[in-house]
Amino acid sequence: MKAFPILALSLGLTLAGCMSTTTTTSGIDYAGASGLPRATKVRVSTSGEPAKQLFGPVESPSAQAPESFGSYSKGCLAGAEQLPETGPTWQAMRLSRNRNWGHPALIDFLERFSARAAQQPGWAGLYVGDMSQPRGGPMSSGHASHQIGLDADIWMLPPSRLNLTATERENLSSISMRRANGAYVNAKWTKAHMAIIKAAASDPAVARIFVFPGAKVQMCKDARGDRSWLRKVRPWWGHHYHFHVRLACPAGDRTCVDQAPPPPGDGCKDAEGWVDRILNPPPPDPNAKPAPAKPPTTLADLPAQCASVLGAR
Ligand SMILES: [Zn+2]
Repeated sequence: MKAFPILALSLGLTLAGCMSTTTTTSGIDYAGASGLPRATKVRVSTSGEPAKQLFGPVESPSAQAPESFGSYSKGCLAGAEQLPETGPTWQAMRLSRNRNWGHPALIDFLERFSARAAQQPGWAGLYVGDMSQPRGGPMSSGHASHQIGLDADIWMLPPSRLNLTATERENLSSISMRRANGAYVNAKWTKAHMAIIKAAASDPAVARIFVFPGAKVQMCKDARGDRSWLRKVRPWWGHHYHFHVRLACPAGDRTCVDQAPPPPGDGCKDAEGWVDRILNPPPPDPNAKPAPAKPPTTLADLPAQCASVLGAR
């Protein structure tokens, strides 16, 4: 395959470099090497080629009715809507990645959620990070999920203004909220962060929020009154520069696969267990075998509808 050596080279650089810059690099290399126009003509293949190489270069959504097909980590998105680059209470960041696409339910959510966030002192609204690609699907880097237009990363950095230029949106960095590898929040964490995460968790469209363990435990300590919203806030790796909001499958999207609901309760004990393991890591198992490398997801691994999403106008 002609494209392979160049692609392999860019993947090699991916390992050495930072994730965000190579996101677009490998996409561009691939499109250039294959000679494919990036938006209008899409190659649909079931030959075992990684699906991220098919979905990554596509620049526009499919002209289809909006629908999420499959699961958050194995699926695609028909009829995606683009989050406007700037709205009254948000800005989409890293526009060059072209990942500000989602199910219309996600766009609606971000509009109302960012308006709530803008009520917090010091928050003009939200800086919105990665959502999905124009047709969803696996990404060339950075995420296992975000495939069906129902996931969005929200920056922890309080937006002081919403008139950033495109260049500023490429170069500005979010800020980390963690201390001690995520066992605790640091001094940048504020009541407003908690209020904003609580607002997201209280929205009926939201299924889960992922954030680093120390933040969950801090919110468990600080929550007063109703604690039911804490159930949706789940500890996860990373997620200290941003938190991740995941919507439930929209009603009517019949092949969209919801994640099993979080266990009953506020999940605070579970989060304390994560913190304990960060502070006192269990000794490595001397008999552990390295996990076999997972073969990349191919189009054949995705719901059948994803071939038509990819091939549609
Ligand atoms: Zn995410």
